[in-house]
Amino acid sequence: MIERRVITVEGIVQGVGFRPFVFRTARALGLNGRVRNAVSGVEIDLEGAPSALDRLARDIAEAPPSAARVHRVSVRRSAPVGRADLSIDASGLDGFRSSFTLVGPDLATCGDCLSEALEPADRRHGYAFHSCTECGPRYSIIRSLPYDRSATSMAEFQLCGACSGEYDDPDDRRFHAQPVACPECGPSLRYREAGTDDDTLSEPVTNPLEALRDAVEAIRSGRVVVIKGLGGYHMACDATRSAAVRRLRRAKSRDAKPLALMVRDVDQARELCFIEEGAERLLTATARPIVLLPVRPDAPVASEVAPGLGELGVMLPYTPLHHLLTRELGRPLVLTSGNASGSPMVHSREDAARLLEPMVDGVLDHDREIVAPCDDSVIRWLLDGPSMIRRSRGFAPEPLALTAHRFRRSTLALGGHLKNTFCLGRDGLALLSPHVGDLESFRGVEALRRVLRHHLDLFDFEPEVVAHDLHPGYATTLLARELELPTVAVQHHHAHVAACMAEHGVSGPVLGIAFDGAGLGDDDAIWGGEALLVDRDGYRRVGHLGYVPLPGGDAAARQPWRMAASHLHAAFGADPGAWPVNPLPEPETWTLLRPMLERGLGSPDTSSVGRLFDAVAAILGIRAVSRYEGQAAMELESRADPEAPRRYAFDLASVDGSLILDPRPVVASVAHDAAAGRAPARIAGAFHRALADAVCGIAGRVRDDHGVEAVALTGGVFQNGTLTRLCVQGLREAGLHALVHRQVPCNDGGLSLGQAVVAGERPPCA
Ligand code: ZN
Ligand code: ZN
Ligand code: FE
Repeated sequence: MIERRVITVEGIVQGVGFRPFVFRTARALGLNGRVRNAVSGVEIDLEGAPSALDRLARDIAEAPPSAARVHRVSVRRSAPVGRADLSIDASGLDGFRSSFTLVGPDLATCGDCLSEALEPADRRHGYAFHSCTECGPRYSIIRSLPYDRSATSMAEFQLCGACSGEYDDPDDRRFHAQPVACPECGPSLRYREAGTDDDTLSEPVTNPLEALRDAVEAIRSGRVVVIKGLGGYHMACDATRSAAVRRLRRAKSRDAKPLALMVRDVDQARELCFIEEGAERLLTATARPIVLLPVRPDAPVASEVAPGLGELGVMLPYTPLHHLLTRELGRPLVLTSGNASGSPMVHSREDAARLLEPMVDGVLDHDREIVAPCDDSVIRWLLDGPSMIRRSRGFAPEPLALTAHRFRRSTLALGGHLKNTFCLGRDGLALLSPHVGDLESFRGVEALRRVLRHHLDLFDFEPEVVAHDLHPGYATTLLARELELPTVAVQHHHAHVAACMAEHGVSGPVLGIAFDGAGLGDDDAIWGGEALLVDRDGYRRVGHLGYVPLPGGDAAARQPWRMAASHLHAAFGADPGAWPVNPLPEPETWTLLRPMLERGLGSPDTSSVGRLFDAVAAILGIRAVSRYEGQAAMELESRADPEAPRRYAFDLASVDGSLILDPRPVVASVAHDAAAGRAPARIAGAFHRALADAVCGIAGRVRDDHGVEAVALTGGVFQNGTLTRLCVQGLREAGLHALVHRQVPCNDGGLSLGQAVVAGERPPCA
């Protein structure tokens, strides 16, 4: 008996070798018909024995290609038409409605492709740009859907005979691999000294390894080289040479913020860092993120790479180019986004020539256009799971399937002001953009506009409502107004909590503990130490860190000594002479600060826990002025001895039905201990402990008062692994259920998801 079934598979099933996989399976099972990319995924129309059709369905469900994500399979029976052949049809443009499940993230080079690059007898030996259906670029080269070569930046490379043979051969792993390429017909690599003519790209290449060796030579001799990669341009130098790292820092105008490293393999990573099993899985995952790892005391790497911190950001090679480069070099490479500090990563040749080349010594360039820039992702292993810090290359634009939320209308959420991402919400899926970055510069806002336009086009997305932060001055708020659609303003910390809930498939009620630097509150104060009770209907602020003035507003974030003065003023009164320690850089500074602290001049109230970390760091003499966002807090954590005994406690008082966490007793004890010469590591450790105790104290009270047992830990402060571990431990001991961020950053990179779910469930105001 012959049956005919039309099987539709939805999910990330285009550009991942899905059609070839179905083709081969069907052929082995003796089925006839056709396989093609369709409206919502891959459509398989086959005839044959029912048992063979069953078997095919099972293989699709149980053993699809590794890069595929099958979300749904539907089967329709139809009358057989007596097909005698099996084919893969080219995607038809007619009636094609792109859906955002169809563009996969860029994937690291697979083992087979790596072997080819390393095998002297292979025709791809030393080649930097090949890939197959299991690996290679996707998102970063796709101009439009459907995903065919003509719609990518590979379109201008005409396949040679050998490559088109592979492309057409159902038994080849490059069967219908759109970016297929070789030294004969694909993109090529060129090296040039900075400032020299860049017309080398039109000259033929004789040995594909030559340019690479020139670049490695330059890096070895201490030069800084710009390297065009997969999702953008990087700046690179030898990580073992202090002078080279300093030179790179000058070129990037980044004087202290940690720099990422790329190493040859896990063994080389082990020479630098301690790597537990889970962290190794992250390091070797196909997304190939930068993984934050505890640094070995004897790590052979310049101290200028991550000054003052206990972790290094390390990644493994993810393209043949990077494999060849790190092998040829043989030592760890600094590989950091090519940009001036605070600006978006450069991805076009024009910008590279204009903005990067004048700052460096050499350029390793290639001629495949980067259509959509994508920064490296950053992640760490924390408490038996991943903890995403920057979700970008390798993850974006794979949508998150939400289990507790469904968008009632197509929702665009524009995210926050720093570490910006935006989010498209449709049905039960939330698509987070790659990392866009900080929006303080014109170039940053331009990048947001460009990436947003590309997403709306690529995914054929027409927003019906736009969510943004409550802050009226954020670039995203202004952009939201420009779009002339109904808008929803979402309070910053509400969005943080909602993001954590969404990724865990929880609709509430949940106690959200949102600790971060700054977000505008609904009372016009600057929030950042919040206890919010959140459910589908919204949030209720049930507690917060006691207010102190934020002296000079934003200036306080850059100058931790200001926050130290503010907290000491609150704890000990108006006479700095009576404080156990004096954080003021000069005595005259008091004239400037006093009216801010006493009369609130230019100094809004704040409940920020991020700023409390700053204050403690300054009181301990660890850092008076921060050179990048969060520096003081990160250094305080890296100094903290997590075994330090309990020594301090916050006061928790109920004031007008709200829990107020009073920082004064802790600040006072910290200051006294610092003045008495107690070890900063012990003080910092005890401070972390006191804060975790406070979190558990609030959670206990909220359980008693409201019966809520789930606690979401969110906000940028929870990038602090020491604090997160202590909080989770304490909450578990108290029988409470802790939710920590896994797939979505706890920092402002995750805000857009929270805004989207809040706005997607709420009727918009016009
Ligand atoms: Zn491959
Ligand atoms: Zn070729
Ligand atoms: Fe935040």
